Amino acid sequence: MLRTFGFVIVIAVLAFGAVWFAESPGEVSLEWQGWRVDTSFAILFAAVAVIAIIVAFVYRMWMFLRSAPGRMSASRREARRRRGYLALTRGMVAVAAGDAGEAKKQVRRADGLLSDPPITMLLSAQASQLAGDEAAAGKFFSAMLTRPETEFLGIRGLLTHALKGNNRKKARELAERAFRLQPKSDWVASNLLDLQVRGSAWADARDTLERSVKNKLVDANDAKHRLTVLDYLLGLEALGDGNEGEALKILKKACDREPGFIPAVVCMAGHLVDRSRAGRAATLIERAWSHNPHPDLVAVYCRARGADDPLEKVKVCERLAKSNPDHPESHLTIAAAALEAKLWGEARRHLENAVGVDASARVCRLMAELEESEHANAQAAREWLVRASKADPDPAWVCGDCGNAVSEWTALCANCDTFAGFSWITPPHVVRLLEGAKEAAQALSGPDGAPDTNQTAES
Ligand SMILES: [Zn+2]
Repeated sequence: MLRTFGFVIVIAVLAFGAVWFAESPGEVSLEWQGWRVDTSFAILFAAVAVIAIIVAFVYRMWMFLRSAPGRMSASRREARRRRGYLALTRGMVAVAAGDAGEAKKQVRRADGLLSDPPITMLLSAQASQLAGDEAAAGKFFSAMLTRPETEFLGIRGLLTHALKGNNRKKARELAERAFRLQPKSDWVASNLLDLQVRGSAWADARDTLERSVKNKLVDANDAKHRLTVLDYLLGLEALGDGNEGEALKILKKACDREPGFIPAVVCMAGHLVDRSRAGRAATLIERAWSHNPHPDLVAVYCRARGADDPLEKVKVCERLAKSNPDHPESHLTIAAAALEAKLWGEARRHLENAVGVDASARVCRLMAELEESEHANAQAAREWLVRASKADPDPAWVCGDCGNAVSEWTALCANCDTFAGFSWITPPHVVRLLEGAKEAAQALSGPDGAPDTNQTAES
């Protein structure tokens, strides 16, 4: 609309100009070098306009021809770049598809077309890895370390290589360097922690774990038990160095964070008793008993309470059991002490309570001992021992990752290498599954020869 209006105005102005020139042509006379030109002003104006148009056209043509070589080379460069990136993309696809030959071919093309090493180096390394040429891949990754923009990728490649080759020392150095560059990378942080833990570098591992929590890579609750374990191990390290004061400070942190973590509580309580702080040790153990009643706490509690003879031990065990009175372990502990003190009635009462809650193998064994000691009833004792062999296994330290059950706590699972994976629970009941299979086999083959196992089938 605006353009049409402008066009109409231009036409109007031109028409007005043409009419004005026609009505008042005027006269112009030029003399130059013996030449004389007489014409009207309108003709002169038209001639000047034509000359101006021709000059402008010639100038534009000259500019166009002058810039042509530059434009042609820029378009050639653009085409090369496009072909380079296409080769790079095809190379990445080949790596993903596991086609080493195609990947190498495309890398060579991309390298020639792009002449930008940081871009093609990673692909070159990956193509070499794919072709099984680890030495060449290592060279590419090492070359990447020299440029800030590719340093992390180079470290990552070398770290993966070191982990694959089980070269832990080299892997740890690389992981530390990678962590300095990218502390928020989950992959780097978890690998570094793993390597530090396997290298028994507890202080470094603790630092890495705390920073991972701060960087929100690890949930604070998930990290809690691992921090407790690391504190316990640092406490043991300080004890090993003869620094008992420092050790107790660190162990206290572990016990406060997780009052039911038995290894730390037993260790700290033992050292407190040695330092004549038996009252504090006893309180620490009672608190642990309320969270996680564990048989290892009993001996150190008796030491803390100064119980030497069997009758005193029964009283002390009753006192300890008050922190968690209904737990089977409380009944078992009093029963075991009562058996030792020959308090048969007391032992029977607590064992029967424990049988009611959880007839584990240990309860059955103690019942057998009671029958044997109190009434010399060998038959009843044998029945309890048979029942013990089929009962739920006793609690043990069970690895949450692979189910490996051990009697002594360790930081790393010997079966699957998981760190801080053990908890004190009843292991899965394998015997009962075997029994089920046996019964099924017997049912299939007929009733002959089936032993009497009814008595042990409940619970
Ligand atoms: Zn395990």
